[in-house]
Amino acid sequence: MTYKSDRIELGPVFTESGEATSLPRNELATHMLPPAVAYQVVHDQAMLDGNARLNLATFVTTYMDKEAKLLYAQTVDKNMIDKDEYPATAAIEERCWRILGDLWHVPDVNDTIGTSTIGSSEACMLGGLALKRHWQEKRKAAGLSTEKPNIVLSTAVQVCWEKFCNYFEVEPHWVPVTEEHLFLDGHELEKYVDENTIGVVAIMGQTYTGAYEPVKEIAAKLDQIEKDTGLDVKIHIDGASGAFIAPFCQPELEWDFRVERVASISTSGHKFGLVYPGVGWIVWRNNERLPESMVFHCAYLGGDMPTLALNFSRPGAQVLLQYYQFLRLGRDGYRAVQQECLDVAQYLSAAIADMGPFELISKGDTIPVFAWRLKKDASPNWTLYDLQDRLRMKGWQVPAYPLSDNLSDVTLQRIVVRNGVSRDLAGKLLADIETEVKFLEGLDGPMPHGDAAFHH
Ligand SMILES: *Cc1c(COP(=O)(O)O)cnc(C)c1O
Repeated sequence: MTYKSDRIELGPVFTESGEATSLPRNELATHMLPPAVAYQVVHDQAMLDGNARLNLATFVTTYMDKEAKLLYAQTVDKNMIDKDEYPATAAIEERCWRILGDLWHVPDVNDTIGTSTIGSSEACMLGGLALKRHWQEKRKAAGLSTEKPNIVLSTAVQVCWEKFCNYFEVEPHWVPVTEEHLFLDGHELEKYVDENTIGVVAIMGQTYTGAYEPVKEIAAKLDQIEKDTGLDVKIHIDGASGAFIAPFCQPELEWDFRVERVASISTSGHKFGLVYPGVGWIVWRNNERLPESMVFHCAYLGGDMPTLALNFSRPGAQVLLQYYQFLRLGRDGYRAVQQECLDVAQYLSAAIADMGPFELISKGDTIPVFAWRLKKDASPNWTLYDLQDRLRMKGWQVPAYPLSDNLSDVTLQRIVVRNGVSRDLAGKLLADIETEVKFLEGLDGPMPHGDAAFHH
């Protein structure tokens, strides 16, 4: 092989062959590249992505301490499934979900079960599947049909629930959001629950607005339904964001295992769990709530290690990072970080409400996420999509999007305040929003392509 290592070491960066000439995009090249050149090419391509720290659309962690980064670099090779080779990582995984179970008030820490996942989506699938299996086993035992399972959920759920229904063939019983009921609150729940209902999903921190669905009210309604019909329907809590906020910042709010109907809770470690993507968690109230038929037993850890997951191999490093954060922050640290986010969110939402054209849908006092719309009576020549585009030119990603389902003619714009969206950055963002609103207000006619349709 002719490999001109002398030239490669000497040539200035960006002049090497492969950098100076065009690279194949959609097929594998025949020849090798020196690692430094390949590195530079991929690094530079990734540079064209947005700046993650200015992305106010994502819920996912974009900042960790330098010690966490070091730990990450040292543990990237660990495979979570390989509990035989990495028993210490496996033990830490178990510690993490037990810590979460305790944080969410499981009645008995010794009679609970949970697992890490790749994110909330996988955790929600497992939660949904457990509800389905439970329902099936109960129905079969009673000699009843298991043909038509359904699940009750708000039309404002995250897309993972649509996937769950689609992939695992469970009929969604959608409860529509309306101007009066922007989230699932138990209103008319009896219309959606029947003998084929495997469970109800309640969201702690709705994706669209940040709202908490009132778990206690939903449970009370289900109690009433049980009294009237004998149907015992359990709740899965999709706490992707809120399950890492409420325990620290709204400790009085009863949304977790303190509510008896709650069978399982899922969350994203990579959202307000403060870990880089991807890690999620699910914990069941007790062993009984996770049907035994879903658990696979491995005798690796010198005992009985029950496992359940949709994936096989996945990174173990994130689980270690989660434990790092638990140790590093403790309750006080998590409270400090989340409260700061809530404070910044409310500072931003109050200032945005004061600007004039906007009306808040939420203010960021549940999870640090809030959304606004243009005032109903205002009919400016511009839309929130225009504002999104103007802010994008300054590097900010502040998404505008339609509300779900029958309110899809309502456009919202949303900000997610994560750890790292500092008060200082927030001040700069506000100044930019003000400038851009002034710019848009100053236009005589509508923005070119200024209608929502252009964006869809
Ligand atoms: C983000 C989110 C999900 C999906 O979580 P991933 O961790 O991205 O898979 C599910 N439900 C809600 C409410 C969410 O906010």
